[in-house]
Amino acid sequence: MPRGGIEETQWLSFLEVVQGVQLQQVPDRLGWTLDSSDSFSVSSVKYALNSGLVPSGDRGTRWNNWVPIKLNILVWRIQLSSIPTRERLSIRGVMVPSIMCPGCMVKAETIEHIFAGCCDLRDIWGRVAIWWGLSLPLQISVQSIINWLEGVNLSRGQRKAFDAIIITSFWCLWNFCNSTIFGMVLPKKSVIFDDVVEKSFFLDF
Ligand SMILES: [Zn+2]
Repeated sequence: MPRGGIEETQWLSFLEVVQGVQLQQVPDRLGWTLDSSDSFSVSSVKYALNSGLVPSGDRGTRWNNWVPIKLNILVWRIQLSSIPTRERLSIRGVMVPSIMCPGCMVKAETIEHIFAGCCDLRDIWGRVAIWWGLSLPLQISVQSIINWLEGVNLSRGQRKAFDAIIITSFWCLWNFCNSTIFGMVLPKKSVIFDDVVEKSFFLDF
């Protein structure tokens, strides 16, 4: 029979829970269950929020302090597929003059295409490889370029510098694509690599 609007099975479950509780002869008090010390701490709130709300990826965040933060953020966003390519803008209903790649004008401007697949733009990776005397990854893809560093035989300092070059190259490719839309002067594909070298030396971003 229902008791006060509670179904019989719910009532029995409630009784089971309550019967297992042992009350102590101490005054009532407020506690903070998010921290083992039972005391409020900002770090415990941060930890609870991070573990409950912030998604964790399957790969670590790339960070190189030899290049500006905005470049690191760009590569991070590329890995998350969250940069506004023309194709993505179009899918979201933003009016763009064209969704085609500004490099080849043949295929849609997707992340994979402009950073790795475009026959007119991916030459930059070959030039970086020649510059550093390294072999290209067997298959050129965004992820293989990002992971390129893992398979090269360089000293610790060289690795960090090479990593900075890869990040800068991503930046220059993205700049090139944006400049074709927003720039006052149409950029030239032939100077993308020169741009990488110049920015790497002078840190002029
Ligand atoms: Zn292209």
